[in-house]
This record gives sequence, structure tokens and C-alpha cells, in this order.
Amino acid sequence: MYLMIKGKKWKVKYLKRMKVDGHDTDGYCDPKRRVIAIRDKAVNSNDYYRILMHEVLHAIWHESGLDNTNIGIDMEEVIVENFATALNEIFKVSIREAKRPDIKIVRGQARSGRDR
Ligand SMILES: [Zn+2]
Repeated sequence: MYLMIKGKKWKVKYLKRMKVDGHDTDGYCDPKRRVIAIRDKAVNSNDYYRILMHEVLHAIWHESGLDNTNIGIDMEEVIVENFATALNEIFKVSIREAKRPDIKIVRGQARSGRDR
């Protein structure tokens, strides 16, 4: 599926296996290619929207130019994770009630980037 984030088209893809820097991860955001990837195991879990929101917040962070500030990646992670958790708590979209996009799981692995 695609998401418009601050006027830019981002691709969201679902992968069977995802490793970033040798570690399993449930999601990653690649600002250079405007790709968000979510691991298929996470798709049907209660954490799906929190994970998707986490990666979307990284995308918003990038599209807002905040990655060009002196806020480091560690602080970005803390902010993004806290906002994702809080937004998920407020809006609490149930995985059963949510209108799901067509989700196609593809084989693949993160090619670059950090666990963002
Ligand atoms: Zn992150």
C-alpha cells in the first residue's frame, strides 16, 4: 500500500524476514527510498498499528526535516516510540475492526538502514 506523508508518496511493504544490521526487527523506515517495511509476523498482532505508527512517525520526522537537526537517532527513537505508544493508546484501533488494506507478504530483507 501507499501512504501520502506530508505530500510525498511512501510505499509500505510487508516482508517475511527482516534483519537490520544483523538483528531481527518488526519494522523499518528507509527515508532515502521512502519505504516503510513491516514484518509479516507483526501484521496480525496487536502491535501492528503501534509498529506501523512508529515507522510512519519516522517518515514524518524525515519529511519535516527533523533528521537535519542535532537530535540524534537515539533521541529520535525515544520520541517516536513514545508518540506511537501514546497515539495507539488514544485511538486504539482494534485489529478486527480496522479496515485493512490488501496486504501482500513478500520475501525480502532490509537492504540498508538502521533499526529505525
Ligand atoms: Zn524506530
